[in-house]
This record gives sequence, C-alpha cells and structure tokens, in this order.
Amino acid sequence: MTDSNYKDMEDSMTEDNTENRTAGGIGSLVDNVPKLGFGLMRLPRIDGGNDIDTEQLKEMVDLFLSKGFTYFDTAYGYEGSEAAIAEALVQRHPRESYLLATKLPAWKAKTTADAEQMFWTSLERTGAGYFDYYLLHNLGADRTHTFDDFGIWDFLAKQKQSGLIRHLGFSFHDKASLLDEVLSKHPEVDFVQLQLNYADWENPMVESRKCYETARRHNKPIVIMEPVKGGALTTLPDAAVAVLRKANPKASLASWAIRFAASLDGVITVLSGMSNMDQMRDNVSFMKDFRPLDEQEQEVIVKARIEIEKVPIVPCTSCGYCLPECPQNIAIPGIFEAMNNLLLYGNKRSCSFTYTWNTRLQGKGVASDCIECGACEAVCTQHIAIIEELKRASDMFGE
Ligand code: SF4
Ligand code: SF4
Repeated sequence: MTDSNYKDMEDSMTEDNTENRTAGGIGSLVDNVPKLGFGLMRLPRIDGGNDIDTEQLKEMVDLFLSKGFTYFDTAYGYEGSEAAIAEALVQRHPRESYLLATKLPAWKAKTTADAEQMFWTSLERTGAGYFDYYLLHNLGADRTHTFDDFGIWDFLAKQKQSGLIRHLGFSFHDKASLLDEVLSKHPEVDFVQLQLNYADWENPMVESRKCYETARRHNKPIVIMEPVKGGALTTLPDAAVAVLRKANPKASLASWAIRFAASLDGVITVLSGMSNMDQMRDNVSFMKDFRPLDEQEQEVIVKARIEIEKVPIVPCTSCGYCLPECPQNIAIPGIFEAMNNLLLYGNKRSCSFTYTWNTRLQGKGVASDCIECGACEAVCTQHIAIIEELKRASDMFGE
C-alpha cells in the first residue's frame, strides 16, 4: 500500500471505526494489557553484525504471543525495526492478536512535510493498517518545540480522529518539571512513556520517581522503558548481586528490575528490549504469571540500590541518540560500556578488549578522537557530561 492509499484510507474512515477502536476507554489501558512489552530497539543480529536476524525474531514473536503477551514497541528511528516487525509479526499473525506502538521523531525533520511523512512511512513499513499506540518520540530538551513548530500535535490528533491511531502519547527523556509542563499543555494525551528503573529511582540526573509521580498526578497511564537500564542492571556490583541472590537465588537480575517497574500502580506495560531467545525465555518465565513485588522484596530492592549507588558509573543506557551527531564517529556508548565494566568489575584485560572491539574493530573513533564540539551532549537522553567522561575513558584505556 502506498502513502497516498493510506491518506485515502484516512479520508474514508468513519466515526463508527473511531468509536470501535477506542472502545474501553483509558481506564482499560492499565488493566487489559499484559505487563511485559517487547521493545524492538535491540533486535537479534546475525553473527553479532548489523543484519537483523529475522528468523530468530519470528521465533521470539511466536513465543511472546503464545505466552499471552501482546504489546510490541518499535519506532520510525529504530533502523530496520519497523520492516522487521512487519515480516515477523504483522504478516504472520491476525491484526487483532497484538498491539503495535511506534513513534515519530519530529526533531529529525527539516520541514512539516518531512515530519508528517514519518507517520505515513511507518504505516507503510509496518503494514499494520493502524497503530494501537502512537507516540511523539523522545520529548525533552530542545527536541520538544519541534513538535509544536511542525504542528505535529494537531496532525496526530487528526489521525486519531480518523481511526489510524487508537491511543496517542509521547515518550519522554527529561526532568519532571518539563514533563509537568508538557502534560499541562496537552491534557488530551492518553498515556506517557517514561524511562524508569529501580537504580535511578532517586537519581537526580534521571528523576525516575519524580517523573513517575508527575504522570500519576496528571492521571496518565504509563508505559515504562529501560527498566533494566539498557542491560546495566544485569551487570551489578558484587555487593548488590549478593543482596539479590541471598533474597532469591533462582531469580535473574533482570527479573528484579522488570518486576519492580511492573509493580508500580498505573503502569500499562513494561518494555524489555529483548535481543535473543534466552532473554525472551527468561522474561516470559517470570512475567507470565506476574506477581508484584511484596513488601520484603521491595526492601531487598532498596538494599541493592544502596550497594549500586556506592559505585560511580556513567549512566549511559546505550540509546544511541548521540551517535549520528558525532563528527568523529566515536563509539560513545560502546566506550562507556567498557568504562562501566571496568569501574564495576576491575577486569582490565577483558574491558580493554571490549573497548577495542567497540571502537577500532568496528571502524569507529576512540575517546581521544573527541574534538569537544558538544553535539552529542545536546541530545544525550541521560544528560551525561560526555566530553569529560571521554577524557576519563581516554585516561583509563590509554587512547
Ligand atoms: S563532543 Fe566529542 S564525542 Fe561529542 S559529538 Fe563532538 S566529537 Fe563527538
Ligand atoms: S551517551 Fe547519552 S545519548 Fe549516547 S548512548 Fe549513552 S545515554 Fe544515549
């Protein structure tokens, strides 16, 4: 189907369709969606390369659906993701058997037409016909105004009216005060998507708790992203691991993080960026018959957080937003991954290999290549002082 076909479809949608697709109202969002969602940013790759492993993705999709889960979260900007989910999900399963979310990054567009075109492109790439959840992608900092500049709020409200969007929301990477501002200005949004994890609950750079409480104050259902902090909460300091293992020797470290997020009131679902079948099997095992953390388990989380906070690491979630901005092609998150591993575990040999693998062996720049232009810091979702951290990395790894 072409973009113009979709535009024709928009024109022909009836009021009845709109009512049908929004049946159940906002209150049903929290109760009717299973608490584990499939985040499609870090898809399985063939031999660790760039090509998406579509066959493995099909197996993951099938397992996910067979266990009763329904929510899939992609984005216009996740390279190859919308096309991959079209092949692995949309073309293989009945449309009513799953919920599909995607996102529009207006801050990447140069004109209104470019920004609007992202919506039509996502519809065409996925072949989904309509989106159950549609998000303005990554509001925060200088990005927020671009959605106003290009009239995207009104444009998407129109698509919702026509039935091409069931629920309209936005994903957010900034402080609670700005979230409050946006929600006050746009009370019409159906939900918000927040980065939230137990380690950053009180972290002033992320403000997980404050953002959560702000969304709740505005009575907005919440989709949670990065509950495992880009995988970082599976590589905890020994003291934190000991706390969690002592409480439950069988539970995976990811399970503590995902169950913490899913236990919060008002949560629609918790997105886990599963990259292979092993991660999928682990996640569905403890989320299939989801049980919220009890009081004792909540205390265990607090103790683990205290241990984590004793180790100063770079709070990078590997979102990758900084990468296309860097004129030196520096592997910023890859460098922070090596750096954090070294800070947490002190294994210089292994971490030096990770550093080289993530940089030179991928044809990318090292920390000392930084020319301090600041382009990466302007888009960093975690507000990291990247330039200073790269200097530290250069000292640690000698280049
Ligand atoms: S400040 Fe350094 S790392 Fe950041 S974009 Fe500029 S050159 Fe790249
Ligand atoms: S440095 Fe910031 S923008 Fe870059 S990958 Fe890490 S969190 Fe994302």
